[in-house]
Amino acid sequence: MAEISLRDVRKSYAGLEVIHGVDLDIADGEFVVIVGPSGCGKSTFLRMVAGLEEITSGEIAIGGRVVNRLEPRERDIAMVFQNYALYPHMTVRENMAYGLKIAKLSKAEIGERVARAAEMLELGQLLDRKPRQLSGGQRQRVAMGRALVRNPAAFLLDEPLSNLDAKLRVQMRLQIKELQRNVRTTSIYVTHDQVEAMTLADRLVVMNGGVAEQIATPAEIYDRPATTFVAGFIGSPAMNMLPARGLGDAVEVAGQRLPVAAAAGRELTLGIRPEHLHIAGPGEPGMELHVQAVEWLGADAFAHGKLADGTELVLRLSGKAGIREGERVTVKPDPNSLHFFDTASGRRL
Ligand code: ADP
Ligand code: MG
Repeated sequence: MAEISLRDVRKSYAGLEVIHGVDLDIADGEFVVIVGPSGCGKSTFLRMVAGLEEITSGEIAIGGRVVNRLEPRERDIAMVFQNYALYPHMTVRENMAYGLKIAKLSKAEIGERVARAAEMLELGQLLDRKPRQLSGGQRQRVAMGRALVRNPAAFLLDEPLSNLDAKLRVQMRLQIKELQRNVRTTSIYVTHDQVEAMTLADRLVVMNGGVAEQIATPAEIYDRPATTFVAGFIGSPAMNMLPARGLGDAVEVAGQRLPVAAAAGRELTLGIRPEHLHIAGPGEPGMELHVQAVEWLGADAFAHGKLADGTELVLRLSGKAGIREGERVTVKPDPNSLHFFDTASGRRL
């Protein structure tokens, strides 16, 4: 068990910086998820913690020990990758035991650790099979088991569920969460999937273009996104973004005045989550929306439409709302759930 801290960590490839100075303190036993779009630097970040990539500048410490100059095997971490990287000619048992054999643990100790991990991951029946005799989900569990038996200071996981089908991903997600709760090993988990990120994380790091745009709990990120990027990336359907303008004691948005103070002339972006837009009652003021498509999902329905000025909006309604394509409805935002951003900087006000 160990805490992990990064101080102004940067990475350049051939003079081109791809990680622009990340500061992060991960507590002992914490589960931190790095989430962001493809190419934002998630894998590079994780590989630097693992020691598979050298850092260009800054400092990384694991368990209070600066590891900048340590080899991966000296860092006491275990990695799990998307492609599992199992040895095809070895059985499940041999795959799980291999690292421990190399580390020269006793036969009894190896047997005990493998048995314990196999039980936690429900691999007991599969120990004598080869990887090719396993399903994708089972292989993934073996990869987890191989990390677990090492009893490392930290787990580093890079998109470990990306090769699984949707249903299996949900199952494995729950299993990984439960496993981490039981063993309480500090974990850094990388994913581009916001649902995975939200459900697994004690704390999230939302990355964009090599910058950690926000580091906070999933609830804080959802309720108070720090930037327009975070606001748009977390949440599905994505937060609605409306151009707005400060009027001093009010804000003008889509021809409406909202009683929110903002400097006159300032360009703002108003963010409204789809569930915070409601259909106005008869005679109530609001914005007229021309509904262009309705996606009905059973419990929920997503109504997509356009305002008079062409701004596109999506509403999350009850599946029973009975709204139809082509309809014109008046919509009003929940006044307590508005997000204002400075348009130029993208930062939350
Ligand atoms: P992610 O895992 O978020 O998809 P990566 O960490 O793989 O992103 O990549 C971040 C950026 O660094 C990308 O622009 C990628 O092209 C670049 N990059 C990654 N590895 C190398 C490398 N070995 N050489 C040069 N550029 C790289
Ligand atoms: Mg990656």
